[in-house]
Amino acid sequence: MECAYCNNKMGGSLVRTKEHIIPDGLIKLFPEEDITFIKDKSFKDNNGLTIKDVCNICNNGVLSDLDSYGNGIIANHFMCSFGIADNYNREFQFEFNYHLLSRWLLKIAYNYERVYKSNTKWFKDNVNYILKGEKYFKDNISLFAGLHVNMIPVPEDVHGKFSLSIIKNPKLLPLGVTYSIYNEERNKEMLISSGQIENIYVIRFASAVFLIILWMDVDEKEKYLIEEKINNLFTFEKLIPEKNLYKVRRVSEAFNCTTGYGAISGKIGLELSEKLIKHSIGGRNFWEARAKFTKLFPADYFDKGRRMIEEIEYPQTQNKNKKK
Ligand SMILES: [Zn+2]
Repeated sequence: MECAYCNNKMGGSLVRTKEHIIPDGLIKLFPEEDITFIKDKSFKDNNGLTIKDVCNICNNGVLSDLDSYGNGIIANHFMCSFGIADNYNREFQFEFNYHLLSRWLLKIAYNYERVYKSNTKWFKDNVNYILKGEKYFKDNISLFAGLHVNMIPVPEDVHGKFSLSIIKNPKLLPLGVTYSIYNEERNKEMLISSGQIENIYVIRFASAVFLIILWMDVDEKEKYLIEEKINNLFTFEKLIPEKNLYKVRRVSEAFNCTTGYGAISGKIGLELSEKLIKHSIGGRNFWEARAKFTKLFPADYFDKGRRMIEEIEYPQTQNKNKKK
Protein backbone atom coordinates (compact mmCIF):
# COMPACT_ATOMS: atom_id res chain seq x y z
CA MET A 1 0.00 0.00 0.00
CA GLU A 2 1.13 3.52 -0.84
CA CYS A 3 0.72 6.58 1.34
CA ALA A 4 -2.23 8.72 0.13
CA TYR A 5 -0.03 11.84 0.42
CA CYS A 6 3.62 11.15 -0.44
CA ASN A 7 2.89 8.08 -2.57
CA ASN A 8 5.76 6.12 -0.99
CA LYS A 9 5.31 2.40 -0.43
CA MET A 10 4.70 1.42 3.20
CA GLY A 11 7.23 -0.91 4.71
CA GLY A 12 10.48 -0.76 6.64
CA SER A 13 10.57 2.48 8.59
CA LEU A 14 7.51 3.77 6.71
CA VAL A 15 4.53 2.69 8.83
CA ARG A 16 0.80 2.90 8.10
CA THR A 17 -0.87 5.23 10.57
CA LYS A 18 -4.41 6.34 11.32
CA GLU A 19 -5.32 9.82 10.15
CA HIS A 20 -8.47 11.49 11.55
CA ILE A 21 -11.01 12.90 9.07
CA ILE A 22 -12.08 15.60 11.50
CA PRO A 23 -8.89 16.45 13.42
CA ASP A 24 -8.63 14.77 16.79
CA GLY A 25 -7.82 18.10 18.42
CA LEU A 26 -11.23 19.44 17.38
CA ILE A 27 -13.15 16.33 18.46
CA LYS A 28 -11.66 16.77 21.93
CA LEU A 29 -13.21 20.27 22.08
CA PHE A 30 -16.69 18.72 21.91
CA PRO A 31 -16.67 15.70 24.25
CA GLU A 32 -20.49 15.63 24.43
CA GLU A 33 -20.86 15.23 20.64
CA ASP A 34 -19.64 11.67 20.54
CA ILE A 35 -21.81 10.11 17.86
CA THR A 36 -20.29 9.57 14.44
CA PHE A 37 -22.56 9.65 11.41
CA ILE A 38 -21.48 8.14 8.11
CA LYS A 39 -23.50 7.42 5.00
CA ASP A 40 -25.79 4.63 6.16
CA LYS A 41 -24.90 4.10 9.78
CA SER A 42 -24.09 5.93 12.95
CA PHE A 43 -22.14 4.78 15.97
CA LYS A 44 -21.25 6.18 19.34
CA ASP A 45 -17.57 6.68 19.94
CA ASN A 46 -15.22 9.20 21.39
CA ASN A 47 -12.67 8.92 18.69
CA GLY A 48 -14.12 10.05 15.38
CA LEU A 49 -13.64 8.59 11.95
CA THR A 50 -10.12 7.64 10.83
CA ILE A 51 -8.54 6.32 7.65
CA LYS A 52 -5.45 4.14 7.72
CA ASP A 53 -3.61 4.94 4.49
CA VAL A 54 -1.17 7.64 5.61
CA CYS A 55 2.49 7.05 6.42
CA ASN A 56 4.03 8.05 9.74
CA ILE A 57 6.25 10.69 8.09
CA CYS A 58 3.34 12.60 6.50
CA ASN A 59 1.01 12.09 9.46
CA ASN A 60 3.45 13.19 12.15
CA GLY A 61 5.04 15.85 9.95
CA VAL A 62 3.16 18.07 7.50
CA LEU A 63 -0.35 16.90 8.32
CA SER A 64 0.25 17.39 12.02
CA ASP A 65 1.63 20.90 11.36
CA LEU A 66 -1.48 21.79 9.36
CA ASP A 67 -3.66 20.50 12.21
CA SER A 68 -1.77 22.64 14.72
CA TYR A 69 -2.52 25.73 12.66
CA GLY A 70 -6.18 24.88 11.94
CA ASN A 71 -7.07 23.53 15.37
CA GLY A 72 -5.46 26.59 16.94
CA ILE A 73 -7.59 28.96 14.86
CA ILE A 74 -10.79 27.17 15.88
CA ALA A 75 -9.90 26.69 19.55
CA ASN A 76 -8.68 30.26 20.03
CA HIS A 77 -11.18 32.24 17.96
CA PHE A 78 -14.32 30.29 17.12
CA MET A 79 -15.46 28.53 20.30
CA CYS A 80 -17.79 31.37 21.29
CA SER A 81 -21.14 32.55 19.97
CA PHE A 82 -21.15 35.61 17.69
CA GLY A 83 -24.85 36.45 18.09
CA ILE A 84 -24.52 39.84 19.76
CA ALA A 85 -27.70 41.43 21.20
CA ASP A 86 -29.98 42.59 18.40
CA ASN A 87 -27.22 42.80 15.83
CA TYR A 88 -26.85 39.36 14.33
CA ASN A 89 -24.97 40.66 11.33
CA ARG A 90 -22.06 42.36 13.02
CA GLU A 91 -18.69 41.90 11.37
CA PHE A 92 -15.79 40.47 13.33
CA GLN A 93 -12.15 40.71 12.37
CA PHE A 94 -10.04 37.58 11.91
CA GLU A 95 -6.57 36.84 10.72
CA PHE A 96 -6.04 33.91 8.37
CA ASN A 97 -2.92 32.56 6.73
CA TYR A 98 -4.45 31.71 3.35
CA HIS A 99 -2.13 28.89 2.41
CA LEU A 100 -2.06 27.16 5.80
CA LEU A 101 -5.83 27.42 6.09
CA SER A 102 -6.62 26.21 2.57
CA ARG A 103 -4.10 23.35 2.73
CA TRP A 104 -5.61 22.27 6.07
CA LEU A 105 -9.16 22.35 4.71
CA LEU A 106 -8.15 20.54 1.51
CA LYS A 107 -6.48 17.83 3.58
CA ILE A 108 -9.73 17.36 5.52
CA ALA A 109 -11.80 17.21 2.32
CA TYR A 110 -9.34 14.70 0.80
CA ASN A 111 -9.54 12.49 3.92
CA TYR A 112 -13.33 12.69 3.75
CA GLU A 113 -13.39 11.58 0.11
CA ARG A 114 -11.15 8.58 0.79
CA VAL A 115 -13.52 7.35 3.52
CA TYR A 116 -16.33 7.39 0.97
CA LYS A 117 -14.04 5.86 -1.67
CA SER A 118 -14.91 8.66 -4.08
CA ASN A 119 -12.84 9.67 -7.09
CA THR A 120 -9.86 11.53 -5.61
CA LYS A 121 -8.10 12.49 -8.84
CA TRP A 122 -8.40 16.24 -8.14
CA PHE A 123 -6.73 15.81 -4.75
CA LYS A 124 -4.00 13.54 -6.16
CA ASP A 125 -3.25 16.22 -8.78
CA ASN A 126 -2.99 18.83 -6.02
CA VAL A 127 -1.39 16.79 -3.26
CA ASN A 128 1.91 18.65 -3.61
CA TYR A 129 0.19 21.89 -2.62
CA ILE A 130 -1.18 20.22 0.55
CA LEU A 131 2.22 18.67 1.35
CA LYS A 132 4.70 21.32 0.24
CA GLY A 133 2.83 24.59 0.20
CA GLU A 134 2.43 27.67 -1.94
CA LYS A 135 5.16 26.85 -4.49
CA TYR A 136 2.68 24.30 -5.84
CA PHE A 137 -0.42 26.53 -5.60
CA LYS A 138 -2.39 26.44 -8.87
CA ASP A 139 -5.01 29.01 -7.89
CA ASN A 140 -7.68 26.42 -8.71
CA ILE A 141 -9.76 26.84 -5.54
CA SER A 142 -12.11 29.50 -4.22
CA LEU A 143 -12.17 29.92 -0.46
CA PHE A 144 -14.72 31.81 1.66
CA ALA A 145 -15.29 32.26 5.39
CA GLY A 146 -18.37 33.03 7.46
CA LEU A 147 -19.80 32.72 10.96
CA HIS A 148 -22.34 30.30 12.31
CA VAL A 149 -24.77 32.08 14.63
CA ASN A 150 -27.70 30.29 16.25
CA MET A 151 -30.80 31.76 14.58
CA ILE A 152 -33.50 29.74 16.32
CA PRO A 153 -35.24 30.90 19.52
CA VAL A 154 -34.13 27.80 21.47
CA PRO A 155 -30.62 26.55 22.32
CA GLU A 156 -29.10 24.59 19.46
CA ASP A 157 -28.82 21.46 21.63
CA VAL A 158 -32.57 21.00 21.30
CA HIS A 159 -32.23 19.91 17.69
CA GLY A 160 -28.87 18.20 18.06
CA LYS A 161 -25.81 20.30 17.37
CA PHE A 162 -23.61 19.79 14.33
CA SER A 163 -20.58 21.67 15.60
CA LEU A 164 -18.16 19.63 13.50
CA SER A 165 -19.40 18.83 10.05
CA ILE A 166 -18.26 18.41 6.46
CA ILE A 167 -20.87 18.80 3.73
CA LYS A 168 -20.16 17.95 0.12
CA ASN A 169 -21.84 19.89 -2.66
CA PRO A 170 -24.32 22.02 -0.72
CA LYS A 171 -26.85 24.01 -2.73
CA LEU A 172 -26.14 27.73 -3.04
CA LEU A 173 -29.52 29.49 -2.95
CA PRO A 174 -29.35 33.31 -3.14
CA LEU A 175 -32.99 33.67 -2.08
CA GLY A 176 -32.55 31.17 0.67
CA VAL A 177 -33.78 27.86 1.98
CA THR A 178 -36.83 29.31 3.73
CA TYR A 179 -37.83 31.15 0.57
CA SER A 180 -37.30 28.02 -1.48
CA ILE A 181 -39.68 26.03 0.74
CA TYR A 182 -42.43 28.57 0.12
CA ASN A 183 -41.68 29.31 -3.55
CA GLU A 184 -40.08 26.16 -4.83
CA GLU A 185 -40.39 26.78 -8.56
CA ARG A 186 -39.03 30.29 -8.66
CA ASN A 187 -35.97 29.58 -6.61
CA LYS A 188 -34.81 26.72 -8.80
CA GLU A 189 -33.56 29.07 -11.52
CA MET A 190 -31.49 30.96 -8.97
CA LEU A 191 -29.28 28.04 -7.93
CA ILE A 192 -25.62 29.02 -8.33
CA SER A 193 -23.50 26.37 -10.03
CA SER A 194 -20.99 25.81 -12.81
CA GLY A 195 -19.98 22.92 -15.02
CA GLN A 196 -16.35 23.82 -14.26
CA ILE A 197 -16.72 23.01 -10.57
CA GLU A 198 -15.27 19.68 -9.42
CA ASN A 199 -16.77 19.82 -5.91
CA ILE A 200 -17.92 22.27 -3.26
CA TYR A 201 -17.45 21.68 0.45
CA VAL A 202 -18.82 23.43 3.49
CA ILE A 203 -16.76 22.75 6.57
CA ARG A 204 -18.28 23.95 9.81
CA PHE A 205 -16.07 23.80 12.90
CA ALA A 206 -17.65 25.46 15.97
CA SER A 207 -18.67 28.98 14.88
CA ALA A 208 -16.49 29.00 11.77
CA VAL A 209 -17.98 28.10 8.40
CA PHE A 210 -15.66 27.66 5.42
CA LEU A 211 -16.83 27.29 1.83
CA ILE A 212 -14.34 25.77 -0.60
CA ILE A 213 -14.85 25.38 -4.33
CA LEU A 214 -12.53 23.08 -6.30
CA TRP A 215 -12.15 24.00 -9.97
CA MET A 216 -11.55 21.38 -12.66
CA ASP A 217 -9.59 23.66 -14.95
CA VAL A 218 -8.60 27.16 -14.13
CA ASP A 219 -10.99 29.06 -16.36
CA GLU A 220 -10.27 32.49 -14.86
CA LYS A 221 -13.39 34.09 -16.28
CA GLU A 222 -15.81 31.48 -14.98
CA LYS A 223 -14.07 31.35 -11.60
CA TYR A 224 -14.24 35.14 -11.27
CA LEU A 225 -17.92 35.18 -12.26
CA ILE A 226 -18.96 32.62 -9.62
CA GLU A 227 -16.79 34.26 -6.94
CA GLU A 228 -18.40 37.63 -7.69
CA LYS A 229 -21.88 36.11 -7.52
CA ILE A 230 -21.11 34.60 -4.11
CA ASN A 231 -19.54 37.88 -2.95
CA ASN A 232 -22.55 39.93 -4.00
CA LEU A 233 -25.42 37.61 -3.17
CA PHE A 234 -24.14 35.84 -0.04
CA THR A 235 -22.58 37.01 3.21
CA PHE A 236 -19.45 34.87 2.82
CA GLU A 237 -16.12 36.70 2.74
CA LYS A 238 -13.70 35.71 0.00
CA LEU A 239 -10.17 34.87 1.17
CA ILE A 240 -7.14 35.53 -1.03
CA PRO A 241 -3.41 34.71 -0.68
CA GLU A 242 -2.35 38.38 -0.60
CA LYS A 243 -4.45 39.32 2.40
CA ASN A 244 -4.42 38.30 6.09
CA LEU A 245 -7.09 40.38 7.83
CA TYR A 246 -10.77 39.84 7.08
CA LYS A 247 -14.14 41.05 8.30
CA VAL A 248 -16.36 38.00 8.69
CA ARG A 249 -20.09 37.86 9.39
CA ARG A 250 -23.03 35.51 9.81
CA VAL A 251 -23.83 33.04 7.03
CA SER A 252 -26.40 30.95 8.96
CA GLU A 253 -30.16 31.07 8.85
CA ALA A 254 -32.61 29.16 11.08
CA PHE A 255 -32.59 26.16 8.76
CA ASN A 256 -28.81 25.69 9.15
CA CYS A 257 -29.21 25.56 12.94
CA THR A 258 -31.61 22.62 12.83
CA THR A 259 -30.44 20.56 9.85
CA GLY A 260 -26.93 21.72 8.97
CA TYR A 261 -25.46 23.20 5.79
CA GLY A 262 -26.88 21.09 2.97
CA ALA A 263 -28.06 24.40 1.53
CA ILE A 264 -26.73 27.90 1.98
CA SER A 265 -28.88 31.01 1.86
CA GLY A 266 -27.95 34.35 0.35
CA LYS A 267 -28.39 37.79 1.92
CA ILE A 268 -32.09 38.04 1.03
CA GLY A 269 -32.67 34.56 2.44
CA LEU A 270 -30.99 35.39 5.76
CA GLU A 271 -33.16 38.50 6.15
CA LEU A 272 -36.38 36.71 5.30
CA SER A 273 -35.65 33.86 7.70
CA GLU A 274 -34.74 36.25 10.52
CA LYS A 275 -38.01 38.18 10.06
CA LEU A 276 -40.06 34.99 9.97
CA ILE A 277 -38.52 33.57 13.15
CA LYS A 278 -38.85 36.89 14.94
CA HIS A 279 -42.52 37.02 13.94
CA SER A 280 -43.03 33.49 15.29
CA ILE A 281 -41.82 34.53 18.76
CA GLY A 282 -44.09 37.57 18.85
CA GLY A 283 -41.44 40.08 17.84
CA ARG A 284 -39.26 39.27 20.85
CA ASN A 285 -35.51 39.06 20.50
CA PHE A 286 -33.76 35.72 20.02
CA TRP A 287 -31.71 35.97 23.18
CA GLU A 288 -34.78 36.80 25.30
CA ALA A 289 -36.68 33.81 23.95
CA ARG A 290 -33.64 31.56 24.47
CA ALA A 291 -33.11 32.77 28.05
CA LYS A 292 -36.72 31.92 28.89
CA PHE A 293 -36.46 28.52 27.25
CA THR A 294 -33.19 27.69 29.04
CA LYS A 295 -34.84 28.53 32.36
CA LEU A 296 -37.77 26.20 31.62
CA PHE A 297 -35.57 23.34 30.39
CA PRO A 298 -32.15 23.25 32.06
CA ALA A 299 -29.18 21.45 30.50
CA ASP A 300 -29.49 18.28 32.58
CA TYR A 301 -33.02 17.81 31.26
CA PHE A 302 -31.62 17.37 27.73
CA ASP A 303 -28.73 15.32 29.02
CA LYS A 304 -31.10 12.81 30.64
CA GLY A 305 -33.16 12.58 27.46
CA ARG A 306 -30.09 12.10 25.31
CA ARG A 307 -28.81 9.28 27.54
CA MET A 308 -32.19 7.53 27.44
CA ILE A 309 -32.25 7.57 23.63
CA GLU A 310 -28.62 6.46 23.37
CA GLU A 311 -29.31 3.46 25.61
CA ILE A 312 -31.87 2.31 23.06
CA GLU A 313 -29.95 3.22 19.90
CA TYR A 314 -26.43 2.19 20.96
CA PRO A 315 -26.94 -0.71 23.42
CA GLN A 316 -23.44 -2.12 22.78
CA THR A 317 -21.75 1.05 23.92
CA GLN A 318 -23.90 1.16 27.02
CA ASN A 319 -22.98 -2.42 27.94
CA LYS A 320 -19.31 -1.65 27.48
CA ASN A 321 -19.60 1.35 29.77
CA LYS A 322 -21.34 -0.71 32.45
CA LYS A 323 -18.58 -3.34 32.50
CA LYS A 324 -15.94 -0.73 33.24
ZN1 LIG B 1 3.42 9.76 3.31
